[in-house]
Amino acid sequence: MSNFDYEHMTMDEKLNLLWDDSQPTPLKDVKFKINAHFLKRNVQDECYRELMVSYIPMLPLLEKTVPFPDADYILYAHSFARCSDASDLVLRELRIIAEYRKKGAEIIVVGKAANAEALLNGSIDNITFWGDHFTEKLGKKFGFDIREQYFVYDDWNKFLAIWPVDGCLQQCAFCRRTYMHIRFESLPLETIKRALDHYRDVSPEKMETISLRAENLTEYGMDLYGYQRLPELIDLIASYDEVKHIEFPIGLSIGETTPEILDSLCKCAKKIKSLAMNIEVGTDRLLKLINKKHTVESAAHILKTLREANPSIELISTVMIGLPTETLGDICELARLIGEFEFDKVLCNYYLSAPRQPLAKFPPVSQGMREYHLKVLLDELCYTLRRPLEITAPVVYKKRDSRKVLRYKRGMKEDNEWRCCGYQDFWCQSHVILYRQNFQNK
Ligand code: SF4
Repeated sequence: MSNFDYEHMTMDEKLNLLWDDSQPTPLKDVKFKINAHFLKRNVQDECYRELMVSYIPMLPLLEKTVPFPDADYILYAHSFARCSDASDLVLRELRIIAEYRKKGAEIIVVGKAANAEALLNGSIDNITFWGDHFTEKLGKKFGFDIREQYFVYDDWNKFLAIWPVDGCLQQCAFCRRTYMHIRFESLPLETIKRALDHYRDVSPEKMETISLRAENLTEYGMDLYGYQRLPELIDLIASYDEVKHIEFPIGLSIGETTPEILDSLCKCAKKIKSLAMNIEVGTDRLLKLINKKHTVESAAHILKTLREANPSIELISTVMIGLPTETLGDICELARLIGEFEFDKVLCNYYLSAPRQPLAKFPPVSQGMREYHLKVLLDELCYTLRRPLEITAPVVYKKRDSRKVLRYKRGMKEDNEWRCCGYQDFWCQSHVILYRQNFQNK
């Protein structure tokens, strides 16, 4: 019997409960002695999808846990394993757990950390790895009716988040997909329609804004139907009168945007609030190096068509600095494209190398060089922007209160200065959010 009314709890309350790692009390009446310390502690930086889809639904199971020395089952997850090759960290922790666990206790590794299975090579006994559908598998093992949630009303952002597909069939050379196994799986279109009909009948107000999310939305349906069914999915969502706005914050791959997908996006463009398409770099040479499927020309066609269909769509992109072989020419081209494509927001990351990535064979770009390239990008943007831009970029200066950072913060002059609006951490990097209002007239 649960102590909590999960149905009526806010997102904040649920997350606080998930992350609450206060010492559990031994419970004589628990059916299974489960310890979740390593899961609760390590998922505090977990991505939005994993939290909403997998971990929050797991709360009833995590309510009654026991201290580590008493546990017959030890749950293990690690959020770093999702975005970079954190295998050293995961392996070290798993070996420590294996050494100090109660005799006979089983370790259950869930999520991306389950990729450690191949690296452990059988060196730890009594250990289970569940990379996907682990919420259901845990529920089945311990007798809880818990399952992953692909439709979640987010009361922070006031939108209905939908994850119609998980995984990606591409192999971008900087991506963990080149060395991790992550299952590709779509939800049937009929299941999505049933869920939307249910929301329309029971709580239509929650459908006002739909946030359609996935690592690769463009490939939706390929496993079930043998072709991309994203156009039909977009048409379906847009067909509900209750849906006033649609967001695509992640998952539209430019290289896989077919004319049919572009048509569907344009048909409902007036409902589209924001849309992310990641150009990553500014030259065809670098696009080939990172194994992206688009070209500068194809990106220009798609992004300009969308902008024409609805001039007020918020266009978002991520870009990468510090790739092997990157030159100042690549950076200047990138600045030119950011201006030409009229992005409203750009998330700039430093390229992070990982030993098992294809790009690891190239000599790395030094820290000093990538910082210099970032500064050149920011300077160049001052000449290319056609509309205001918010760019979230890695913190160039080490101390947040250094004179140079303070200069950013005070940079409110009405000329070429970037204005600092805050800080954020993404992908294990600290970022500063810069905003520039002045731009070149067309
Ligand atoms: S499209 Fe995205 S998720 Fe897929 S391999 Fe490329 S970067 Fe990774």
